[in-house]
Amino acid sequence: SPVIGVLALQGDVREHLVALAAADAVARPVRRPGALDGVDGLVIPGGESTTISKLAVLFGMMEPLRARVRAGLPVYGTCAGLIMLADKILDPRSGQETIGGIDMIVRRNAFGRQNESFEAAVDIEGVEGDPVEGVFIRAPWVESVGAGTEVLAEHEGHIVAVRQGNALATSFHPELTGDHRVHRLFTDMVRARGAADSL
Ligand code: GLN
Repeated sequence: SPVIGVLALQGDVREHLVALAAADAVARPVRRPGALDGVDGLVIPGGESTTISKLAVLFGMMEPLRARVRAGLPVYGTCAGLIMLADKILDPRSGQETIGGIDMIVRRNAFGRQNESFEAAVDIEGVEGDPVEGVFIRAPWVESVGAGTEVLAEHEGHIVAVRQGNALATSFHPELTGDHRVHRLFTDMVRARGAADSL
């Protein structure tokens, strides 16, 4: 089984560890740069992107994360994690940095004003069967994507799931639903990368 880390600086780390284990990965929290060496893939959880950004800088994680993602480490970000994977934030808080990796511009708290939190059925390209139950919590949306970024899902005309190469991101939180199909999609991406590397 692939070893998949969950960036454990802040956010819903435990829920991702449970979902990854259910999707047949060996899941472990990652807090220090050294722990990045042992993982085949990495999840950036939901939480607060400004806090995750600050802690990543404080713990010396930001540059190692950027380097690993640039080198092709499979990554999956949910909500705040999606923001962390964006090459550009439309409305960053001062000092807020991202890891980057997906050519997209995101708008933080985009769904937040009218609805702090809601659920909606989301059809995701590459996920078979019924739509996924999308849990949106002060969720961002993707304002625009570059040519290399694939749009996997939209909600009411706004982009809420994307993929670029080995990087996957959703505005919503599949780790909170008990439906592990999106985590399976990600573990499949991690396995495919491992297979390609051993050719
Ligand atoms: N609004 C949060 C942010 O900007 C994201 C919320 C979430 O991850 N549920 O980071």
